[in-house]
Amino acid sequence: MDEHDDATATTATNDRTTALVTGANKGIGYAIAEGLGARGLRVLVGARDDDSRSAAVERLRTQGIDAHGVRIDVTDDDGVVAAAAEVERRFGRLDVLVNNAGISGPFDPVTWTQDPTTLDLDVVRQVVDVNVYGVVRVTNAFLPLLRRSSAPRIVNASSSMGSLGRQPGPVMAAYAPSKTFLNGITTQYARTFADTPIIVNAACPGLVATDFNGFAGDRTAAQGAATAIRLATLPDDGPRGGFFEDDGVVPW
Ligand code: NAP
Repeated sequence: MDEHDDATATTATNDRTTALVTGANKGIGYAIAEGLGARGLRVLVGARDDDSRSAAVERLRTQGIDAHGVRIDVTDDDGVVAAAAEVERRFGRLDVLVNNAGISGPFDPVTWTQDPTTLDLDVVRQVVDVNVYGVVRVTNAFLPLLRRSSAPRIVNASSSMGSLGRQPGPVMAAYAPSKTFLNGITTQYARTFADTPIIVNAACPGLVATDFNGFAGDRTAAQGAATAIRLATLPDDGPRGGFFEDDGVVPW
């Protein structure tokens, strides 16, 4: 049982649009949770670390946000299934899933690159396990709950580094293709959901100052969260199966 599995949760009415954000203990994920909470959604802070998850929930609650913690490591098959069962038991619904958790994997600290010619395949496996398989694992585990929502939305946190048309930034031979892979998977989900109310899209946050890049980005987490928040709250006639950033569409 989560430390925030309290009276608020167990007596929760079932009438509040509920969003789960993975990796919401910090960075862009926290800002997405904050933004969705400020719009009146109940937010489930998905995170693997108990202390930082609790701290994030407390911080959100001090702003009046209906926030609750859910333990989730996106690489843990059984843990992800258990998290979905926990959400079903505690809240009985899920309307919005933001697959935000992601890692770059180790890179050369001098050149800030992952050189394909010396790439450790274990690094690739680790990055893909979080950034791609993690999204599939979590999406499929929560799909039964999402299907019961009248307006389900799924947002996958991608990156323009995964854009084959743009290829920005340094060579990152594990990270960048993991986001290309994620974009491909996003389109396959969108095709599968074409005749359903489920809307799935990918979001690029831009270069955001977080732990992810040693706070080297020029955008704030709130700025980076904006596109994901927009896609998480799309109207029923909103775009499907796209890749978006602040200024519009990112080329595949
Ligand atoms: P961050 O501050 O490093 O946060 C990453 C989050 O993912 C953390 O909450 C981390 O949890 C979580 N996470 C990592 N592995 C996990 C796992 N196995 N299970 C559950 N959670 C896990 O990075 P960020 O900048 O906010 O990045 C968020 C997303 O935006 C990522 O998908 C990233 O690829 C994408 N993105 C970021 C930028 C940027 O400039 N920052 C640009 C483009 C795309 P822990 O605290 O437990 O490690």
